[in-house]
Amino acid sequence: KGPDPDLVVIAERMATVKHKILVLSGKGGVGKSTFSAQLSFALAAMDFQVGLLDIDICGPSIPKMLGLEGQDVHQSNLGWSPVYVESNLGVMSVGFMLPNPDEAVIWRGPRKNGLIKQFLKDVYWGELDFLVVDAPPGTSDEHISIVQLLEATGIDGAIIVTTPQQVSLIDVRKEVSFCKKVGVQVLGVVENMSGLCQPMMDFKFMRMSETGEHRDVTEWVKEYVREKAPELQNLIACSEVFDSSGGGAEKMSREMGVPFLGKVPLDPQLCKAAEEGRSCFIDQKCGVSAPALKMIIEKL
Ligand code: ADP
Repeated sequence: KGPDPDLVVIAERMATVKHKILVLSGKGGVGKSTFSAQLSFALAAMDFQVGLLDIDICGPSIPKMLGLEGQDVHQSNLGWSPVYVESNLGVMSVGFMLPNPDEAVIWRGPRKNGLIKQFLKDVYWGELDFLVVDAPPGTSDEHISIVQLLEATGIDGAIIVTTPQQVSLIDVRKEVSFCKKVGVQVLGVVENMSGLCQPMMDFKFMRMSETGEHRDVTEWVKEYVREKAPELQNLIACSEVFDSSGGGAEKMSREMGVPFLGKVPLDPQLCKAAEEGRSCFIDQKCGVSAPALKMIIEKL
């Protein structure tokens, strides 16, 4: 029996891709797609040729996070062309193929696997320095498929995104163990939504009366600071939103023997950048989270 013809085609496609990175998470909603999107923006800003492949078939959020909602994939004689944000940042997602973005994709495993295979076989990426693969949460069919299909061409490793809560960390252990079982190196763990940080002057201030009513005193506080203590205007206020008394992702990473890449705070500006499909590195738009993300990316 000869080699699997699909794998031969995939190997040909991947021959022009230098590095392949998977972005994983144990749970949904922890910021995996946000991280994949910002990682891709950052690599592209460093002048690398970047491809972002969204294989979260049931919940593709990548088109929106890259500002590409409503775009279509085109077919050329070389294959499916990714949708380009910039000439060096191409994106492929099932989100581009859905006639109605509000419609749920209810597909069973084999059909999902079929699409992932088709993405790998048919998308013409050209020369890439990095292919970032945004996987769905958990360890299911899609994960096994992508690993099996890319195994022969080599996967550089996986980045696991989590929040500091125990419920999310428990699932990270499963992700790490999945990677170990399938032989994918864990490049590291990112703790996202690690406390809330924003400029003090962006907060709202409330005064609670004795009867328990809240009154908005934001203007009064800001006026007071401006006049009496202007040096406080530059402060960034941070608060531990989630309980990380267990040591969070850093301790867990140490215990599991995988690198810890760093913490990214909950930053309203990063949420806005993701909603608007923008990079948070341009124009200092995410003053709080961008430096943290940058440090993480530099470690890779
Ligand atoms: P996942 O891919 O893990 O399901 P998303 O990346 O879709 O999660 O993130 C869920 C929501 O949280 C999105 O609205 C996103 O903009 C927001 N978000 C993610 N990380 C942060 C952060 N560090 N600060 C603020 N909002 C964030």
